[in-house]
Amino acid sequence: MFYKTRSMPQLMLLKNPDSEMNNTRALEREQMVNTQIKARGIANPRVLNAMKTVPRHLFVPHAYEKEAYGDYPLPIGNGQTISQPYIVAVMTDLLNPSPGEKILEIGAGSGYQAAILVQCGVEVITIERISPVASQAKENLNRAGIDNICIITGDGTLGFPDKSPYDGILITAAAPEIPIPLKDQLVEGGRIVAPVGDRYIQVLTRIRRINNEFFTERFGAVRFVPLIGEYGWREERE
Ligand code: SAM
Repeated sequence: MFYKTRSMPQLMLLKNPDSEMNNTRALEREQMVNTQIKARGIANPRVLNAMKTVPRHLFVPHAYEKEAYGDYPLPIGNGQTISQPYIVAVMTDLLNPSPGEKILEIGAGSGYQAAILVQCGVEVITIERISPVASQAKENLNRAGIDNICIITGDGTLGFPDKSPYDGILITAAAPEIPIPLKDQLVEGGRIVAPVGDRYIQVLTRIRRINNEFFTERFGAVRFVPLIGEYGWREERE
């Protein structure tokens, strides 16, 4: 009896490594939002809340988990990247998704940007060109407990007419210009956000469809991996 009662407090003091890790990641996420995103002027509460909620460390390869909340992009395999957190926040802010809208993302990559959009309350369809990258995105999203994103493997420069029109389209790879099929699949009043430029440096661009005309706004310089496809760049073979 005596032995048992003495051992109880010791058992209760044992730490749960999983919840400790989750607390650490939540703190890193909070710090990321404060120092990298709010501090650079993003104030949209929906965007800030999504960035604070989505566990980015579940969207990077295991070897990079400790760097998941760093102020830079990371490799995700197959020569592709998960974008810097600030760039994800800026693009989401420029798209300004409202709950209930339907958004098409081109370039699923890790699935992180799609998760941020879902967290903003929208329906998300995302297209990824590289099949193993698309499978990994699905796995990452499942690990994060997100199962309501439609992931399609294929050339996103053609859009996805079956589910069109879209309230917003986010292109997360460097486009030579906004692909015409994507403009055609946008609702009246809709917007497309994309890095537009050459293969190496681009300008963050937003176009809006108003009375069947397209109006363009340009923001800062960015660097993305190329959008490869019929209305993008050709695949370069070494
Ligand atoms: N949004 C991603 C995330 O949250 O991790 C990052 C995207 S990564 C910078 C660009 C992605 O676009 C790559 O995974 C690449 O394979 C994909 N991509 C390039 N051209 C594409 C195309 N025509 N259609 C669909 N995906 C494409």
